[in-house]
Amino acid sequence: MTDVTIVGAGPAGSTLAIALARQGVRVTLYERSKTPRLKACGEGMLPHGVAALRELIGVPEGPRMRGLRFVAGDVSVEADFPEGFGVVVRRDRFDGWLRDAAASTPNVDLRSGTAYRPLGERLVVGADGRRSMFHRTLGAVPSFPRRVGLSTHFAGIEGLGDRVEVFFHPDGELYLAPTGGGEALVSALFYQSAFRRDGIVYLLNAIPELRARASHIEQTTPLLACAPLGLRVPRIVGEGVLLIGDAAGAPDPITGDGIAMAVVSVKPAAEAILSGDFQAYERIRLDMGRNADRLGRLLLKIPRANGRTARMLLRRRALVPTLLDVAVGRRAMNARTVLRAMCSR
Ligand SMILES: Cc1cc2nc3c(=O)[nH]c(=O)nc-3n(C[C@H](O)[C@H](O)[C@H](O)COP(=O)(O)OP(=O)(O)OC[C@H]3O[C@@H](n4cnc5c(N)ncnc54)[C@H](O)[C@@H]3O)c2cc1C
Repeated sequence: MTDVTIVGAGPAGSTLAIALARQGVRVTLYERSKTPRLKACGEGMLPHGVAALRELIGVPEGPRMRGLRFVAGDVSVEADFPEGFGVVVRRDRFDGWLRDAAASTPNVDLRSGTAYRPLGERLVVGADGRRSMFHRTLGAVPSFPRRVGLSTHFAGIEGLGDRVEVFFHPDGELYLAPTGGGEALVSALFYQSAFRRDGIVYLLNAIPELRARASHIEQTTPLLACAPLGLRVPRIVGEGVLLIGDAAGAPDPITGDGIAMAVVSVKPAAEAILSGDFQAYERIRLDMGRNADRLGRLLLKIPRANGRTARMLLRRRALVPTLLDVAVGRRAMNARTVLRAMCSR
């Protein structure tokens, strides 16, 4: 007999299933895909997500990242995470690792290859991503500016290190991160008005440093796309329903926070399910989402600015470390943080 039904075995659903099952809750976990697949994603998990996952399951295998490198024109700024490390894991491997961990946890009944159909359950958790079936009743609105994301993998990109690299361009940004074995994740996020299907190749050619580092490359996985990127969900709990992960709202991926937020919100979600009091979870998760949205809006000013302004912003000493503090949950995104980030020289 099931106590809780979870829809979706992505990072949010699998992790929550494990957390609940370890507390003696019987979980049925539905996942419509038969085997774990690649998803359009930047594949980087921030340190607070790694720490939350380590406490529950462990750290997935993948290159460990010490920080970020931002590049705008001829300006390049490196910054390390204030504590811990990030991990880059290909989504087919990461989701597979989590799914296996869930399947081998007593009390979890994983139904891979089975799309969920309502059966009048007492409690259903929507962990079914940004196109959640529960948005029909709880609502969801795309955030502005409207953006589109692309991702794929290449072998042969030179000079990969232990920082995720973010290249700003007036049309959007390109992200570069090693996924192991000489392969790299390449993702590009565009404003809808500037979107082009060949966007990744276009940016690899348009940015001089990348043109030099990607002169002999081979694409190793199909190109994936996702739109719209940002999503706000005003209500994330309802009668017998609780949403988690992207189903509960997705920040623009420029924050790099989607997976970490999904994993970090598992503990309050499990507490809510065990106590039957959903209000505290709703407050905590909506606060996390607002913080990430504010960070996203500030970060989006960098690629939107003209080249000179973007370079001027990146030269501000405290900007990148302050924004990293926000991204990893050490600082709230408020007026004081913005002043600190923008007023430093
Ligand atoms: C271009 C792009 C770049 C990104 N870059 C980053 C990044 O660098 N770092 C980061 O942390 N985040 C990033 N994100 C966000 C990240 O991908 C998401 O936050 C994360 O996948 C959310 O996990 P989830 O478990 O909530 O949802 P998902 O990963 O979407 O999983 C939902 C699961 O539910 C299943 N499902 C859906 N409907 C049903 C159904 N009816 N029945 C059964 N199963 C169902 C799906 O098959 C899927 O496996 C990026 C996103 C995009 C689009």
